[in-house]
Amino acid sequence: MKRIAAFMLLHACAAMAQEGWWMTQPLRWVQTNLRETDANLDAQRLIDQLTDFKANVLHFGMGGIAAYYPTKVPFHYPSPYLPKGRDLFGEVLELAHKRGIRVVGRFDLSKTRKEVFDAHPEWFFRKANGEPVVYNELYSTCINGGYYRDLGMKILAEALENYDVDGLFFNMFGNQSRDYSGTFVGHCHCDSCKRKYREMYGKDLPKEPDDDYRRFMFHCSREVAAEIGKLIRTKRPKAGYFNYIQEHTDGIMSESNTAVNRPLPLWPYASSDNVNRARNSEPTKMSVNLCMQFVDFPWRFATVPQQEIALRLWQNVAHGGAAAFAVNGTLDQQDMQAIQAAKPVYQWLAANEQYYVKQQSAAKVLLLGGSARLGRTLNTAAYRGVFRFLSEEHIPFAVSDNMDWLEKRDYDLVIATEWAPAELKTYLEQGGKVLVVSARPPELPVPAVVQTWKNVSGYFRVRNHQLLPSLKDTTIVMLNGDYTEVAGDGSDSLTFIPPSMIGPPEKIHTDMKETTKPGLVRSQIGKGRLVWVPWDLSVLYYKHSLPAHAGILRDLIADLMPERQIVTNAHPLVEMSLMRQGNRTLLHLINLSGHSQTAYFEPLPMRDIEVKLAGKFLKATAIRNRAALAVTDSGGRSRFVLPELKDYELIVLE
Ligand SMILES: [Zn+2]
Repeated sequence: MKRIAAFMLLHACAAMAQEGWWMTQPLRWVQTNLRETDANLDAQRLIDQLTDFKANVLHFGMGGIAAYYPTKVPFHYPSPYLPKGRDLFGEVLELAHKRGIRVVGRFDLSKTRKEVFDAHPEWFFRKANGEPVVYNELYSTCINGGYYRDLGMKILAEALENYDVDGLFFNMFGNQSRDYSGTFVGHCHCDSCKRKYREMYGKDLPKEPDDDYRRFMFHCSREVAAEIGKLIRTKRPKAGYFNYIQEHTDGIMSESNTAVNRPLPLWPYASSDNVNRARNSEPTKMSVNLCMQFVDFPWRFATVPQQEIALRLWQNVAHGGAAAFAVNGTLDQQDMQAIQAAKPVYQWLAANEQYYVKQQSAAKVLLLGGSARLGRTLNTAAYRGVFRFLSEEHIPFAVSDNMDWLEKRDYDLVIATEWAPAELKTYLEQGGKVLVVSARPPELPVPAVVQTWKNVSGYFRVRNHQLLPSLKDTTIVMLNGDYTEVAGDGSDSLTFIPPSMIGPPEKIHTDMKETTKPGLVRSQIGKGRLVWVPWDLSVLYYKHSLPAHAGILRDLIADLMPERQIVTNAHPLVEMSLMRQGNRTLLHLINLSGHSQTAYFEPLPMRDIEVKLAGKFLKATAIRNRAALAVTDSGGRSRFVLPELKDYELIVLE
């Protein structure tokens, strides 16, 4: 029954997303995020630059805050810098199409001028005290007001009727709670929001956003997204709909960016994370993960390291997404470093474009993300701990926020780092293997919870070196964080050691007490197997990178999934992704060794990387090295050696 329901849902989703140009062509996407002053730009020069860049999609300012064409819709204004009589968007569109470059028009309906606010104050975002949100003379609109829901549709209808656009993109969708300066404005208290919230929940808007409010905002933004999708498909059936959300769109937008106040460490897998998650949550949709060239909003013209830009672009395409790069203004930047870093990557991708289309993940491990749909958030540190571990171990994995796909693909193992939903039970009963790493009890049959120890500083005693061979040199591992104690005896694996004295040295742990409280729960559910680590193991690995913590993950994965897809001697800082493209298998290798602390340098060349890949292949070709690699049989696996990895390599297996 469940399987059938999921199948129907899948069918409905697949029918909604069109197999448009964004799925059938390799994408080399460039966004020129125009300022209003750019309305006088030299269109021919821009298109010549894009041609040289080998870009094939231009993401270009169209309307909303400022229109780049002579709009006739009331309360929609052309940029004050658009020369009288000029239709910049129309000119660019025509020149781009002549060169085979597609154009996606950018809209931002989240803010507009004071004239509109004066005429229609009911269309606008209201803070808790009733005041509007004003930033650089622009007033924030509310996603539930008439600007988005009525006037916005007229603006888009005009744009779609007059221009043969290849798609539309929307910025700032869904009532942002902070402005560009980071000032907190809270959530909207306008009459439309108050009324809609009362209709949905029978109560007043909360003072602080809670789970109900998050579901409300999710619902409201998706209502508008659905209307926009419908409008685009009616007016321009071949055009795509691109937005930062998974629902109702054709392309899922995301960004790899930096911000000066964001907590360290940097997340060098940002692009892999975004693209892997988008492509595997919605495999019928394209992932467009924009590589943002700037450091943070106050320094839009200051460029991040060139190697960071190149790394992000390689990660985008290695996981089956578009190459996507954004600059503010035109391609005549005051700092040209970003463009000079991205251009050779684009040119190489263009020369080898047959490999960068219609890729799907071939991974046999599924890592669960969060789910905005269900209002579930994710413990980022726990998620990243496992993400990084899998990458360092060269275990190909797909990330998904969407449980609908669970039964559609053949996974050997599912890993949950916080959220382990009840849907996994059916999967387990049918023979699935699940690893849950979280102090939060899974929604699955597990032993009775005794208590959750909060933020405890203790240890676990290693009692089973046969199960945990990576811990051969230790009988003790660190615990710092939450631990959920369950009924049972853990003497056959790991047992909890509660906090004991930590000083002076004469007293250290002299009162240490052993228990039989389990640090590991292993059970059979139907035909399947569940392993639950009821403490913050992956958070600890993310924060401290202790080999003992990695060892536990490695051994538990080996216990559940004895056969890995890839066996290799590659350094942990070589990221690999395994993709399928028709009859071909593609192995992407990305060299992350240039990353250290806040820096990205040239990666160190890696030599003689041996790979033994599950499956029989006759031919292996290293595309960037321009070399055929000898393939031999190694215990039923296909073995080959890559002589040298510089920044990136693609090995095509046939
Ligand atoms: Zn509102």
